[in-house]
Amino acid sequence: MHLDVLSITAHPDDTELTCGGTVIKMVQAGYKVGLLDLTAGESGTRGSATLRSRESARASKVMGIAYRENLGLPDAGLEDSRKYKLMIAEKIRELRPRTVILPYWEGRHPDHYTAGRIGYEACFLAGLARLQLNGKPHRPFKIIYSSMYVPAVRPTFVVDITTQFDRKLKAVLAYTSQFSERKDTQNLFPARDDLRGRVGGLARHFGLMIGVRYGEPFVTREVAAVDDIVEMPVKSI
Ligand SMILES: [Zn+2]
Repeated sequence: MHLDVLSITAHPDDTELTCGGTVIKMVQAGYKVGLLDLTAGESGTRGSATLRSRESARASKVMGIAYRENLGLPDAGLEDSRKYKLMIAEKIRELRPRTVILPYWEGRHPDHYTAGRIGYEACFLAGLARLQLNGKPHRPFKIIYSSMYVPAVRPTFVVDITTQFDRKLKAVLAYTSQFSERKDTQNLFPARDDLRGRVGGLARHFGLMIGVRYGEPFVTREVAAVDDIVEMPVKSI
């Protein structure tokens, strides 16, 4: 398989929440997009792994993605281990993505930033010709980090998801078990009614940065190269 885009995250629903609009937009542009969830989210406070897998199948359908797999690594137990990196590297060789989306490398939840870190190393390992690993060597051309979970980080760029926002919300809402009917005092599991406000508020915040209604933020380690300063896409004032 040759994917154009592969999003690697810690839990089912992470892609939907952090960069679901971008995924949908790329699918609509005709690209082949795949998702690799590292854990099944079995340690989460709400919803069993089976339930979450049913929910993620529903969300995949809403997004129209070409491929999704769950690697079954331990939830709340993602570690910087060589074994995990090689497992991910093997998947990268199999799926051969041009662009990989990873979670930002810092944050509150250890699974999220660990997924970003081991995902990066897996991309590197997948390209090593002499490594004892199944599949033909492949190194993704581009790695971008989704930073929605760390809103204090200034993004390198924002994708306009205004047209995709409703569908993104539909994909997020497929995870019924994660969102309660009632108000939640811990503030970790928003009630369904609050969800549109929360997801929308964040997307609005990033959209404002580029002068559109809704946006999703990304960070790159590299500086972008520009050839034509007359045709740059975002207005300054
Ligand atoms: Zn998560």
